[in-house]
This record gives sequence, C-alpha cells and structure tokens, in this order.
Amino acid sequence: MLTNDQLDKWDRENFFHPSTHLAQHARGETPTRIVTGGEGVYIEDRDGNKLLDAFAGLYCVNVGYGRSEIAEAIAEQAKELAYYHAYVGHGTEASITLAHMVLERAPANMSKVYFGLSGSDANETNIKLIWYYNNILGRPEKKKIISRWRGYHGSGVMTGSLTGLAAFHNKFDLPRAPILHTEAPYYFRRPKADMTEAQFTAHCAAELEALIEREGADTIAAFIGEPVLGTGGIVPPPEGYWAAIQAVLDKHDILLVADEVVTGFGRLGSMFGSDHYGMKPDLITIAKGLTSAYAPLSGSIVGDKMWKVLEQGTDENGPIGHGWTYSAHPIGAAAGVANLKLIDQLGLVGNAGSTGKYFNDAMKAALGDHVHVGDVRGEGLMCAVEFVKDREQRTFFDASDKVGAKLATALVERGVIARAMPQGDILGFAPPLCLTREEADTIISTTADAVKSVLG
Ligand code: PLP
Repeated sequence: MLTNDQLDKWDRENFFHPSTHLAQHARGETPTRIVTGGEGVYIEDRDGNKLLDAFAGLYCVNVGYGRSEIAEAIAEQAKELAYYHAYVGHGTEASITLAHMVLERAPANMSKVYFGLSGSDANETNIKLIWYYNNILGRPEKKKIISRWRGYHGSGVMTGSLTGLAAFHNKFDLPRAPILHTEAPYYFRRPKADMTEAQFTAHCAAELEALIEREGADTIAAFIGEPVLGTGGIVPPPEGYWAAIQAVLDKHDILLVADEVVTGFGRLGSMFGSDHYGMKPDLITIAKGLTSAYAPLSGSIVGDKMWKVLEQGTDENGPIGHGWTYSAHPIGAAAGVANLKLIDQLGLVGNAGSTGKYFNDAMKAALGDHVHVGDVRGEGLMCAVEFVKDREQRTFFDASDKVGAKLATALVERGVIARAMPQGDILGFAPPLCLTREEADTIISTTADAVKSVLG
C-alpha cells in the first residue's frame, strides 16, 4: 500500500479536484482526505478517522455505505457482460428492468426513461428534447428556458447556465442564451419582512408571469426547478408554491421539468418530490438516488405528452440524433435495480419521512433559538441551518468571515460531515435514508457543540 505521504504528493501534483481551491491545494495549504471505506452512515479514512456522513457523499448514497447486495449485483453484471451499448434497440436485462422499475415508481403520465450518467448530462438531454419537441410542433421561436436563482442543475455549458449560483457562472462566460432566471422560492430571504408565505408565493408567481410576458410566451419553452432547492441552500418551497407556478405554466403552454436528482427515490419521504408537492412535470431528471451512487447513472423520464411528439419527430426525420456511448450502461443499470429493490425492502422512503421529521424537529429545538441562527428548515431527510449576523434584520455575516466553512470544519473535527452550502452561511444536512434516531441525535448534538465553539 502506498503511504499517505506518497499519495498526498501525487494528489497535489496530479489530481484536478472538482470544486476545490486549485492554487491552495497545489501549495499544500488545504487538507486532503483519502477515503477508504464505509458502513451504514459512516465513512473511514486512511488516517483512521470514522466520520458520520450527514451529507451522504453529495446527497447520493441514499441506502448507506457498504451494501453488499448492490456490490454483488455490480460484480455479477461485470462478469456476465460489462458493456454493450443501447443504440438502435439494443438493451440488457438490467437496463430494461430498471426502466420498468423507474416507471412503476414515477408520477402519473410518464412514458419512457432515457438513461445517462450524471445529473448534468440528463439535464443536457432534457434541453435538447425540449428544443426538438418545439421544432416538431412547428414552434421554432419557443426555445427559452426559465430556471430560478439559486437553482442547481449541473456544471455543463447549458446546465451550468440553468444553475442560478454565481460561483458556477463567474469567469466561465455563463449563463448562455437562451436561459433566463426568475425569483428563488426562498421565503427566509423574501423581499419584505412582513410578507406572509402565501403573499411570497403570489409574488414568485407574479415575477414568473411578468418575465414570461416581457419575453413573450411564444419564446418560452420550459421552466425547470428542483422540488426543494438543494445546493442553493436546501430550501423547501413556500406554501402553495408549486400549484401557483403550475397554473402560470399551464396558462402559457410552458413545459415543466422537475429536477429530482436529489429528491427522486425517497429523500423527501415520498418516492418523488413531484408527487410530494403535486407537481405535474413533463420531464423528470433523476440521478443520485437511482443507484445510491454505487455506479454512475442518471435518467430523463419523459412524459406522455412529449413522448408522442418525439415519436412523430422520428417518423418525420429518422432516428433521434442523441446518445452517449455509456447510455444505460449495464453496470449502472444492475446497480440501479439492486438499489431500488433495497430501498423497498428496507422501507427507506418511509424512514426518510419519519426520521426526517424527527431530525428536522430536533434540529429546530436544539438550534432555533440561537442568537446567530436565522432559519432552520427542511423536508424529509433534507435540513438546513442558516446563520446570520443579526437575527431580526436577517443580515449576512461578512463573506470573508467564512462562518459556514468554519462551522463545517468544527463539525468534521467532532466526527460529523455536513456541507457548507455555496452561497451564504448555511450548513446543509442530507444523510443516508437509513439514518436512525440515535444517529440523528448524534448529528444534532455535535452540530450544537460545533456552533457553540465557533459562534458562542
Ligand atoms: N441537478 C441537481 C438538482 C443536482 O443537485 C445536481 C448535483 O448535485 C445535478 C443536477 C447535477 O448532477 P451531477 O453532479 O451528477 O452532474
């Protein structure tokens, strides 16, 4: 085995890490962590640390670490047939079975699943399908896509454009046309302190409608949103939000894409966030929870209305010009089948709802009254604690104080991984869906202790 020193050197010399301060890392100013194993909600590193992963990797290891059922399914598939493509009607037992299982679980009126590898590429697929759809319908001008500020939809050129967070745009020449952004459904940061949730929802719907009217509804193809904002701060929607948005979209014949990369397969305590909030999407993006990240796999679930037009398009133009070498990769598909079975067997969707409620209530009880806590919010097994300089005024700490990052570091030093969300001082929690109440208590008491050490 290589020594940690050797790996540390190679890491800094050779490895381009995502979302990392490249210069500091190369200079050796930031820590490395070499992860070696995991079991349940815990991971282990080479230095012998055992950490409770309260963010499930990147909110993806939903069944928890070390599940031999999925590892064995992957190994069997690799031995039997590691790869064959899915072009021109080819498939494997695993890919066909998984498409069937996804549709059995999906909201009503969904027709087919296109498999990709990442949430980003699935949203790229969605954009192409939306444009194709409107071209087939003879509406070549209806192409703009509306996303929300603080939405996260990936890191590609178009999906990075859909994303509404400055860190993913700055110096990359993003966002690109024809992507537009509208108000984030972020009640805590509402424009007027005395607005009720219902008034704020009406404000978000009015902002959307004003944007559509400014641009012209005949130029707007689709609206994309996460049922609960994830990377933008873990923000459940205000009361009545999705019904109000859906009404505006229906009025102007605009498609809805539900980006369920985080919320799909149970995280909110429902199989899909769309059902949780009564959304009626035309496309659903899935990834992370589809395989619990045991292998890379994503998907675009296409609704009946769009599917009919896609069929019409190929009758008129020939086979659809879209495909990845690794679409429906058999190893990812085998992992997906084993993962979805395990979610059912272990009752993880129900646990996300019940333990999630316990977790959110207990976090609120432990930290809600702290002088620097502005908001504790969540749904299912998603939870965020937002820190502010002044509670009454909801003022931010100075960005240079790096309060969020300091809190996340204090937590890790105490054995719990939470995520400092990228915009504001927000600690995010999204543990594996197998979390127990005892483990929830550990996360909460450790968080309270870390907050005390950083903010008093
Ligand atoms: N959509 C949402 C809602 C996400 O949270 C993410 C990743 O966190 C993505 C898309 C992009 O997925 P990936 O990182 O697999 O490309």
